[in-house]
Amino acid sequence: MQFEFSALTDVGRHRKNNEDAVLIEADHGLVILADGMGGYNAGEVASALAVDVIARELKPGLTKSGEFVDVRSLRRAMEVCVSNANRAIFEAAQTQEACAGMGTTLVMAASLGQSLLIGHAGDSRAYRWREGVLMQLTRDHSLLQEQLDSGLITAEQAAVSPHRNLVTRALGVEENVLLDIQAFNVLPGDTYLLCSDGLTDMLTDSQIAEVLTAVPQADLRATRLVERANANGGHDNVTVALMQVVEMPKKSGFVAKLRKY
Ligand code: CA
Repeated sequence: MQFEFSALTDVGRHRKNNEDAVLIEADHGLVILADGMGGYNAGEVASALAVDVIARELKPGLTKSGEFVDVRSLRRAMEVCVSNANRAIFEAAQTQEACAGMGTTLVMAASLGQSLLIGHAGDSRAYRWREGVLMQLTRDHSLLQEQLDSGLITAEQAAVSPHRNLVTRALGVEENVLLDIQAFNVLPGDTYLLCSDGLTDMLTDSQIAEVLTAVPQADLRATRLVERANANGGHDNVTVALMQVVEMPKKSGFVAKLRKY
């Protein structure tokens, strides 16, 4: 599958630092997005470490002659590189005073043939936009999601909950982390959106869908989504990454020739 990529990260309207990190490796069909947390600049260190380690370890296998020949081997490689990123952040947090307590969420997408593998830990999300319908593909690892699942609070209460940003899973917090990985079959016309909670705390799903409906171009979509998050308050750093399937030209020449004779 061929994709068009676009990504944008913005500090928002209230924060001094941008602790989000995003990386697109278009030639490798890889997108990595991380939302760091921790005092001083530690959140930035954690999210940058996650993106760097994962990209470095995964890229060589995601080439035409790469070793990831099937979904299974790619899935395994994602688990290994995220485990290594987790350990790198955890060890820095344990040994460097300025990094104490840091961690980061992660959402990543890796393309292999017709498949797209999406991995995540924490409350950074992936969505799919297909035929005018927006679907959330990831389930937040957050206290809020747990409260929703157990029926302790309603969706209305969740929208104003003070626990919005408490994640129950992140890289660098414990010695090991479990990455949720799902494989999706990509269809022509699909768009995949990865984002930090700075987008989804400020925009409802229907507001995200409005932007995707109004604007078809990947780069403009990224710009508009960030603008909209800031217009709605911009309480946090906001990061978006889009992967849009590039439509292949129709093979009309062959049919036309047949008809001619
Ligand atoms: Ca955030």
